[in-house]
Amino acid sequence: MPYLPVVTGPCKSGRPIDETSQPVSASLNALGYKGSMSKILIIFGTRPEAIKLFPVIRALAGVPGLTVRTCVTAQHRGLLDQVLAIADLAPDIDLDLMEPGQTLDRLTARLLTGLGDVMDAERPDLVIVQGDTATAMTGALAAYYRKVPVAHVEAGLRSGDIYHPWPEEVNRRIVAPIAALHLAPTETSAEALRRETIAADTIHVTGNTVIDALHWTSAKVAEDPALAAGLDSIAARFAGKRIVLVTTHRRENFGDGMAAIARAIGRIAARDDVAVVFPVHPNPNVVSVMDAILGDRGNVARIAPLDYPHFVRALGMADIVLTDSGGVQEEAPALGKPVLVMRETTERPEGVAAGTARLIGTDEDRIVAEIFTLLDDQAAYSAMARAHNPFGDGHAAARIAAIVTDFLAAGTTPEAAPSNPTGTAAHADRD
Ligand code: UDP
Repeated sequence: MPYLPVVTGPCKSGRPIDETSQPVSASLNALGYKGSMSKILIIFGTRPEAIKLFPVIRALAGVPGLTVRTCVTAQHRGLLDQVLAIADLAPDIDLDLMEPGQTLDRLTARLLTGLGDVMDAERPDLVIVQGDTATAMTGALAAYYRKVPVAHVEAGLRSGDIYHPWPEEVNRRIVAPIAALHLAPTETSAEALRRETIAADTIHVTGNTVIDALHWTSAKVAEDPALAAGLDSIAARFAGKRIVLVTTHRRENFGDGMAAIARAIGRIAARDDVAVVFPVHPNPNVVSVMDAILGDRGNVARIAPLDYPHFVRALGMADIVLTDSGGVQEEAPALGKPVLVMRETTERPEGVAAGTARLIGTDEDRIVAEIFTLLDDQAAYSAMARAHNPFGDGHAAARIAAIVTDFLAAGTTPEAAPSNPTGTAAHADRD
């Protein structure tokens, strides 16, 4: 019998979650859940979505009477596949929509029609999307056109600027009015949704599932260090040096920003006491600049993107994290690693408020100065290097599984609405 893991606190809205281990089936039976036919379709397409959804898939997979189907769009083929392999997930449907140099409008069109076809074939009772990608936005839209309810994992992140991050800020805002369940990682994100007049009883504070993924993967690596042994040679090569872990891939930083980042890394790595570990995102806008400006340097390990166990080990090895990533901003505070964020705004203010993250933009001199301060000023370093869990306690997926099953048990789906007698998608000639 599958059990939900122990959850250590109530979600902020909806049914409080028991603090004891409880079989999901018992919870569902108590609610009068028929348990016979409910089907959930979980859609994702990129590395961060896979990392943040695999704990949810695992939590839902054991629920009796629930069919969980996974559909990957493969918006980012290679990076996505790395996560699927580690999480031991084989998607049920693989749209394989990645095309080299795809434009956003072409990608969006292909995602929308591809996901619509999948929904017509699968006829799910609920669609789950994550975050703010084109896959999440089109998955929600295709579900809406079929009046299938949507649960949005990592709902409510807002930077307040539609061009930072671009196009993610608008992608996630589009999901908001569609979603029936808003699974907000923090109280800040829940509040952002309430400000947008999203009904309070549809918003649930769950924690961010990335912390579940981080804990699960850290435990796996601790059990089996061979999973991350690919970093042994770098660990030996840089023994005794302070390690700066770098990731960068944001669209807003392409061009001048990326060139400034490359020059700053070169200046940081000129110090004998420092080494830079830099898994380089495969996007040509990153690779070409790093080739041209950074080149090969003794104190820099420019390496291919790491699979998740290796990346978790790299985070553990790092003294300082320099990134423009969203997910890394959430993981670093949980490990007590100071994280300098190469962005002008963030939709994750919790790390900044907790003192573990600092927004520094992409000015070359500022990046160098901020890193040198942390390297040379022990008090400044200690002030930032404190483990906090503003993004969750590692039990978000269990909360989400309980909320989703409650929702299905209650049977409040839009199919009950008379305006959709066929239960099929609206036709363009009528709507
Ligand atoms: N990550 C990884 N390997 C890498 C770099 C990052 O597994 O080489 C993980 C990282 O731990 C985080 C996620 O990828 O969970 C972040 O993805 P990304 O930075 O691509 O996207 P964002 O979070 O900015 O949307």
